[in-house]
Amino acid sequence: MTRPAVPAPLLQMVLRVEQDIFLVRQRGREVAAAVGLEHQDQVRLATALSEVARDLLHTVDGADVTFVLDRDVLTGRSVLRVDLAPARPLPDGRYQPQSGAVARLVDMLGVVTDGSDTVVRMSRRVPAQAEPLTPERLAQLRTELASSAPGTALDELAAQNAQLISALDEVRSQRDELEVLNSELQETNRGVMALYNQLTEELEETNRGVVALYAELDEKSAQLRAASESKSRFLANVSHELRAPVTAIIGLSRLLADSASDPLTAEQARQVGLIRSSAADLLGLVNELLDLAKAESGRLEPNWAEVDLRGLFGQLRGTLRALATRPAVELVVEEPPAPATVRSEEVLLAQVLRNLLHNGLKFTERGQVRLRAERRGDLWSLSVTDTGAGIPPELHERIFEEFYQVPGTTRVGGTGLGLPYARRLVTLLGGTLELASEPGRGSTFTVVLPVGGA
Ligand code: ADP
Repeated sequence: MTRPAVPAPLLQMVLRVEQDIFLVRQRGREVAAAVGLEHQDQVRLATALSEVARDLLHTVDGADVTFVLDRDVLTGRSVLRVDLAPARPLPDGRYQPQSGAVARLVDMLGVVTDGSDTVVRMSRRVPAQAEPLTPERLAQLRTELASSAPGTALDELAAQNAQLISALDEVRSQRDELEVLNSELQETNRGVMALYNQLTEELEETNRGVVALYAELDEKSAQLRAASESKSRFLANVSHELRAPVTAIIGLSRLLADSASDPLTAEQARQVGLIRSSAADLLGLVNELLDLAKAESGRLEPNWAEVDLRGLFGQLRGTLRALATRPAVELVVEEPPAPATVRSEEVLLAQVLRNLLHNGLKFTERGQVRLRAERRGDLWSLSVTDTGAGIPPELHERIFEEFYQVPGTTRVGGTGLGLPYARRLVTLLGGTLELASEPGRGSTFTVVLPVGGA
């Protein structure tokens, strides 16, 4: 095996007395500068070298010092290597610098054994941007270093002082920079805190606004509730007060027309008849208003009981037959499937279905009006289907508003209060009232109720 060519040393010197320590230090710096180490690294290497030199002088009476420009086997980069071959064998073959910080001044510091030779070696990488050293330049360096006269200890002390001053200077400027950075950091911190405080304040402000808004909303809805309650109370009172005089008018007009009273002329009899039928209409309206007002005021409490749908349907079949006066319209009340019970209030439920059937009969010229009960799981679906004119989709919700009547249907009479009342009652019974209808294809009103009640 051939050993790699050993590079020729740049400089060799001996270390035997105290004075040599200064020389080694001084020459070390010169060599470091010559191969292109940066100023800081020159000082680092020189310092490490003088420390190691002092240690070796004291423990093994000195060393032979060799400076070599070598090549790192791993990176291929140039390194400045200093080998200190001790004058006597190292104790235990080992070397430990007095100061632990020394090793950090260079890239590598340690004992290297090559065959029978043992040296203390230190090395430092030459920066990549340093001027490459040609063999000619190396030769020239060697000559220069060999011929340059070494300075005195005093010179080296002065140089060392200058280095110390520049190092202190650098430390100070670094400290100044750090202070500037610190104060900038504090400034930024203050900015962040101010922003945070501002945001928190804005958030609190917004929160207060939202809270105030909610309070206002609560107040408004309480006012609305109160207004709606007083409207219902007013309606209930007025219609109640109207009922007695209207009933009296009907009674009196009946008396006037009675055969036991003085006979009326034909014209008088016609007019009394008009008074009576107008009063009857008025009574109907007053009664419906009273019902609706009662349902809306929340004073209507269902009397919950098991309602037998078969019984209820039978009753409706009987009472509504009298209303189905058109021969072209058939009223069909289907028999509900057993077991036909629902937890509800019979009177209110009958009112709803009667109302829907009555509407069906009113608005159907020919065909059929059909009441059917279907059980779907926990729900009863009670539907009234007719083959009447139907209702345009855009009016499906409007017809549930008070007093609304589809234009053109008023001639058949009514108040526009039946459906809103029916929906109120169904809601009270825990169900829903929905409409499916297409103009020209009839309508289906469906009451959906929970089997077990609300
Ligand atoms: P009323 O029947 O006293 O007019 P409702 O509230 O019961 O009042 O009905 C409101 C309006 O809805 C009716 O005037 C009518 O225009 C329409 N309507 C209700 N039921 C039907 C139906 N089965 N077919 C067609 N239109 C209907």
